[in-house]
Amino acid sequence: MPGPVSYLLRPLFSVLLLTLLWSIPAAAEFSFVRINGVAPGPTLFITAGIDGDEPGGIHAAATLITRYQIRSGQLWVAPDLNPEAILLRERGEMNLKFAGVDRDDPLFAPVNRLKTIVRNHQFDLLVNLHDGSGFYHPTRLSRERGPYRWGQSVVIDQEALPGVRFGALHDLAAAIIDRTRSAVLVANEHFQIKNMHTATLNPEAPTRKSLSWFALRHDKPALTIEASKTHPVHIRTYYHLVALEALMDTVGIKFTRDFELTPQAVAQVIREDAQMTLAQGRIHLDLNKMHHTLYNFPLPANPQNGISAINPLISLQPEDGGYRIHYGNNRLALLRPRQVKIDSYFEPIPMIIDGKSQLVAPGTILPVASHVQIEPSPRYRFALAGHNGSWEPRATSIEGRQVSIDRDGRLLRLEIYRDEVFNGMILLDFRQDDDGEEDG
Ligand SMILES: [Zn+2]
Repeated sequence: MPGPVSYLLRPLFSVLLLTLLWSIPAAAEFSFVRINGVAPGPTLFITAGIDGDEPGGIHAAATLITRYQIRSGQLWVAPDLNPEAILLRERGEMNLKFAGVDRDDPLFAPVNRLKTIVRNHQFDLLVNLHDGSGFYHPTRLSRERGPYRWGQSVVIDQEALPGVRFGALHDLAAAIIDRTRSAVLVANEHFQIKNMHTATLNPEAPTRKSLSWFALRHDKPALTIEASKTHPVHIRTYYHLVALEALMDTVGIKFTRDFELTPQAVAQVIREDAQMTLAQGRIHLDLNKMHHTLYNFPLPANPQNGISAINPLISLQPEDGGYRIHYGNNRLALLRPRQVKIDSYFEPIPMIIDGKSQLVAPGTILPVASHVQIEPSPRYRFALAGHNGSWEPRATSIEGRQVSIDRDGRLLRLEIYRDEVFNGMILLDFRQDDDGEEDG
């Protein structure tokens, strides 16, 4: 039995608790989440990720799920319409399949699921989020700014869809643009209306095969918000959220959010949402600045069944004999698994954190300023494990880098076993002094 384990290291950062757990569907199924307001109001159906290489839209849609409360009205959010393309960071061809899709096409099922929602469900407006090239402008100003570009536009297929609520598409787009003016970061990046006049196009034109045109043909108004691929992901996400909030204000959906809508805060939200639990909650991982490979990582058989995350863009995919963590378009750590049985027994573990006694549940990310002590226990074996595969308990200070989840060496992996059965993991989180370095 090891003696009291004591580690002297650097401090940490506060921990986001996963209060609302979103179960992650199998790779091919897109997520569909309804956020209901307390009071009645219009329903927006917001989609993203129909093109798999447009991360701004998918993060914006996911942020609606993780960070917004709706007071009146409803949001239906499908943030990852083409999950396979998102995993591969490929555009995919999903948005060309709404005029017809072959039965043996891998996209047959998701396209038809989406068509069914659009045709049969009661919502007021379909909103598609895309990241487009350059900056749309009705006349050519430069290579990056002109009529064949898409970025920073609100795209409509026609002026209006008569006879339906929110069918005044041009007016709606104009209202969005008006309300976003003060939030535009650079003077010449105001949103522009891009009217495709889709009905006048050749039936073979891509726009005639799109989701939004399908919606219009089924009497559902639709518009598309395009951020610009010229911008980094958090700026695109920021612009999507700015436009979505302008739209909600315009149609009378009341909402609150738990962050300030600035590019910096949006970047912070994307980082804070990067969390997942594995092994039925016995492991809670922070996914920021992870090592590229985590070796000897305790996982049950079929680990994909036991995961959850607050953010629907997070998933675990088999790869190369291990499991890759994905967050939208980001490929994070590859877990090299050591298969374990999960203990059915669960109780908090007494620990002394910076001199204070505390009960700590397995599956916790535990902020520590300077040191941790664990009394020897007849019941448990504690192992401070590392990505190098060393997992003997040490009685003295250790080099964080050798045993960490993260590249900075500040998130250490304490594993708990009862005989050889895995009881859980506690991450010792020494990052709280790192505020200035968080943005890397
Ligand atoms: Zn797109």
